[in-house]
Amino acid sequence: MSLAKFRERIDYAGMRLLVRELEDLGRSPIFRVMQSATTSHVRVAGRPRLMLGSNNYLGLATHPEVIAASHRALDRFGAASTGSRVANGSCEVHTELEAELADWHGTEAAMVVTTGYQANVGVVSAVAGRGDAVVLDWAAHASLHDGARMSGAQVSRFAHNDVVELRSILSAARSPVFVIVDSVYSMDGDIAPIDQIAALCTEFDALLMVDEAHGVGIFGAERTGAVELYGASGAVDIRMGTLSKGIGSIGGYLAGSRDLIDYLRTHNRGYQFSTAGTPASIAAALAAVRVIRSAEGAELAHSLLGNSRKLRDALLARGIPVQGTTVTPWGDDVIGPIVPVPVADEPALVEQWNQLFERGIFAGISVFPGVRLGSPMLRLCVQATHSVPDLEFAADTIAETYCHAMEPSAS
Ligand code: PMP
Repeated sequence: MSLAKFRERIDYAGMRLLVRELEDLGRSPIFRVMQSATTSHVRVAGRPRLMLGSNNYLGLATHPEVIAASHRALDRFGAASTGSRVANGSCEVHTELEAELADWHGTEAAMVVTTGYQANVGVVSAVAGRGDAVVLDWAAHASLHDGARMSGAQVSRFAHNDVVELRSILSAARSPVFVIVDSVYSMDGDIAPIDQIAALCTEFDALLMVDEAHGVGIFGAERTGAVELYGASGAVDIRMGTLSKGIGSIGGYLAGSRDLIDYLRTHNRGYQFSTAGTPASIAAALAAVRVIRSAEGAELAHSLLGNSRKLRDALLARGIPVQGTTVTPWGDDVIGPIVPVPVADEPALVEQWNQLFERGIFAGISVFPGVRLGSPMLRLCVQATHSVPDLEFAADTIAETYCHAMEPSAS
């Protein structure tokens, strides 16, 4: 059957613009090909650029210990894990990493899944089912919404970080409730009021899961994430994180009680029915977690948070709007690795992105469906390894191109 028969459902016009027409003109911000490792500077289209769109927040993807561990695992176990761990067994590195993650988070157990997306879809659809209620923050990651839909439970969403609405949903609920939030929101960049959400879940006896994809390695004295920063480690039933951002590799993990993890080993379909992460990527993650837990990890997290603050303040000082700041209950104003700059509309975003690219900056972007329709943004991702001159150059260049992008767009 021809793909064209699906025309009414598929937005071919939007797809053609981003994927083909802009790409043919060399102006598409997406699907760019990196010609170097993705660190604080990259080579794209034959030229070095300052990278402000990567999740390699702590620079661990190219840390010498991470690369050496990955090489050793490749030599010892080969290139593939060769199948699902349920059917084909695990490599030693998988179980070592799980023990390290559980020890780090202070949970009874942890499991590693091939991607964070699979971890989320798998856990939500395995824990909740018909007759249950799943309640998510509207801005929670797509994988959590997908898992909720797959679970067959009744799904409700509350407005972003709106604990009043969450309370009213919880007080009206007549079935077991599973509450799911991100710790640091992947597009908005802000931190959930985790202390208040945890208190509500305790009051209404709801199960609580927090996705720490953008918090792990960065927040808290032990750097396990924003749950730790908010003193809520004991109140969160399921802690999820990715190995693909601060940890600098690929994969997802779930940490919690032994019962939960035992259950998930036979009911998380992303774990059961998909090939496990490669030995080299799992060994890289294990080495990266060990760096994060060391004094060097503390310095990297400190540099990252300092850099985010510097970029935000430099942009604000130049009159550029910046989202993503959270004021904590104890009065700190915190901004994590994601510094979102709202832009007028999609054509203005493409225009500004290209101007930045020409001037040597590769910026991250967020467009629908990652963000609400009509609310596109530059999604600047900061790294611990950016220098002060890098950040000043970024702020100056964004400020210079921002005015231009706000003019009525050409298309
Ligand atoms: N949760 C959040 C909040 C994310 O931002 C992402 C990645 N964009 C994921 C989960 C999925 O993680 P992974 O990339 O490891 O599949």
